[in-house]
Amino acid sequence: MFRRVAIIGGGAAGATLLSELLERPGTQPLHLDWYTGGGTPGRGVAYGTRSERHLLNVRAASMGMFANRPGGFLEYMQKRDPSIGGTDFLPRCWYGDYLEAETAHTLERAKAHGHDVRIVPYEVEAMVPENDGVTLFQGESTTRVDAAVLALGALAPRPLPNVDDAALASGRYVTMPWSLLADIKPDTQPHNVLIIGLGLTAVDVLLELAATWPNARFTALSRHGMLPEVHQFSASLPYEDSAELVETMRDAPDIRTWMRLLREAIAHSDDWRSVIDCLRPHTSSLWQLLSQADRARFLRHARWTWERARHRMAPQVAQSIGALEKDGRLQRLRGHMHGVTLTERGVQMTFLPKGGTSEQTLDADLIIQSTGLETDVRRTQHTLLQQLMTNGHIRSDPFGLGIDAAPDGRLLHDGSVWPRLFAIGSMLRGTLWESTAMPEIRQQARQLADRLLAD
Ligand SMILES: Cc1cc2nc3c(=O)[nH]c(=O)nc-3n(C[C@H](O)[C@H](O)[C@H](O)COP(=O)(O)OP(=O)(O)OC[C@H]3O[C@@H](n4cnc5c(N)ncnc54)[C@H](O)[C@@H]3O)c2cc1C
Repeated sequence: MFRRVAIIGGGAAGATLLSELLERPGTQPLHLDWYTGGGTPGRGVAYGTRSERHLLNVRAASMGMFANRPGGFLEYMQKRDPSIGGTDFLPRCWYGDYLEAETAHTLERAKAHGHDVRIVPYEVEAMVPENDGVTLFQGESTTRVDAAVLALGALAPRPLPNVDDAALASGRYVTMPWSLLADIKPDTQPHNVLIIGLGLTAVDVLLELAATWPNARFTALSRHGMLPEVHQFSASLPYEDSAELVETMRDAPDIRTWMRLLREAIAHSDDWRSVIDCLRPHTSSLWQLLSQADRARFLRHARWTWERARHRMAPQVAQSIGALEKDGRLQRLRGHMHGVTLTERGVQMTFLPKGGTSEQTLDADLIIQSTGLETDVRRTQHTLLQQLMTNGHIRSDPFGLGIDAAPDGRLLHDGSVWPRLFAIGSMLRGTLWESTAMPEIRQQARQLADRLLAD
């Protein structure tokens, strides 16, 4: 059992692991250092939003923080409002309230049980892992712990290639949509906004800006020009042949066979969503069966279709986006961005329309890059990850999806595992593929707590 543990990251993953460690009955007193990096502990990027327009993309009944109590969030919300149902898609800021409340309870109880928890609202800047412990550096202080867990979430997005420095410096090209939305002020000017990407981040940006800037018009460019798929209002029935499908996939782990099996299953199901959803508890173990060549094939040919079907919009959200299109406030384009320059009146994007042979330009007051989750540690500006990479303490997974790790979260270097350095959440995408949302994170937190507390 590791007595002194550091958790690095103050989002939902860090909070869930902290609670799992502190809430086990009979655990001997622990010394936990929780480095949150600032902000309200527990909320992180996703649940730090104050806008009730930003909805969870998972139904309330499945968003509990603990693997042994998946209905915990619904119970919490029903105490506030008994009319809330398990299939509802609720605002993410309410989920943030729940995380905060659970974490506060845990911390109170921890004191009574003799645990010593130190919350450090700063970033860890450097770390040195060794076989018998990990040394952490933050400001002037150095701390030695028995084990450390990186719960860093996704990375700050980098600007796309060929965005000129002047456009970046002008503030008219935004790479961090969340910072923009946090500070946005009501404005009736007829802003002309261009959005690059059309995933769930773009959807949040559209909802918030369309309401706050009622006269703004939006153009969204993406490779396929398509929005994420939509959840149904009520949950569909589970796919009845799911066990057989998963078994057949396990017996033939190659991506072409899997695609064929999925197409066949979808053709025989009442709702394609139930087929996609039935794979969710098995996605990580299936991913680990694939060869590197097949993982590469999936990422090249099927990733986009998978992400669009898997990360769906709540139906109310789809209705709001549909209304924007109907009102002529949103236009979607298919194409590939070639570059962005600063002009006298704003910013100009050059792009190649899909199927076209010549570049076109679009002028805007503001361009917002909304291209999704960034987890590539090879070129990151993140101070701690840069230091760990530069010193060879960690390495990237082969596809630049995160940090290379064993399936249980232990980090790899030179082909061997660090016995006391772990990660949880988005940084494990390369190893587990499905590793960013709460249903997976709470499972990882539980298993990691088992491991850290094992004799
Ligand atoms: C907009 C958005 C919407 C989402 N919606 C859903 C949803 O509806 N349902 C769902 O299940 N999932 C959703 N997700 C997935 C989401 O990633 C997880 O649910 C969860 O929020 C991830 O938490 P995390 O702690 O891993 O990461 P984050 O919330 O990103 O937290 C990481 C933390 O690490 C801190 N940090 C970074 N570097 C350091 C350092 N060196 N030292 C100390 N601290 C550091 C940061 O300050 C931050 O507090 C959404 C994600 C986003 C971005």
